[in-house]
Amino acid sequence: MTRDAFQSAWDAVRVLSSGTPALSAFTEMPEMLESRHLPAQDIPASRLFGTDEAAASAGTLSVLQAAKVLTPSAHWLRHYTEDQVGADFMARYGFFELAGPDGHLDWPDHRAFFAYWGPGLHYDWHHHAAEELYIVLSGEAEFHVDGLPTRTLGPGETSHHASHQSHALTTRDRSVTTLVLWRGEIGAKDLTMGSVAA
Ligand code: ZN
Repeated sequence: MTRDAFQSAWDAVRVLSSGTPALSAFTEMPEMLESRHLPAQDIPASRLFGTDEAAASAGTLSVLQAAKVLTPSAHWLRHYTEDQVGADFMARYGFFELAGPDGHLDWPDHRAFFAYWGPGLHYDWHHHAAEELYIVLSGEAEFHVDGLPTRTLGPGETSHHASHQSHALTTRDRSVTTLVLWRGEIGAKDLTMGSVAA
């Protein structure tokens, strides 16, 4: 059986993980994941994703390129509605689940997403049960995490969010493309907007 494009992207993610201690410490990545047929589902941001190769690093470029190949066939998603975040945000943001219980590859107890935000967007405070690790593939963004100082992260840098630890993200003059990993309580993809009440 030949490896499909989603599996090739997974191979690139595994290579990145092996060279990124924060990623390899977060979870082990199985060598083989079964493909699952998901219908392509397009959104406007699919045409923006992966177009900024110059903003990747030597370590992340192969993942960005492998992910970009997937964009026409990916099942793109957005968490929000135009009423919640506005038309501009909805047109320049989106993600898809590469691997997970609902992903293009079946990873029963984790999720791995590719996600994109265009320049000048604020992804407001939210939290979820799953423990999460972001790794920036290209561009940069300010990562806001409850209880920590804001950090601007670029390619290869990571942000960790504990279960229900609130976080937010702001892009300034550049877009950001990320790989997002979930472990732990991954059952629901629902996000709770706002910060956690004390
Ligand atoms: Zn999150």
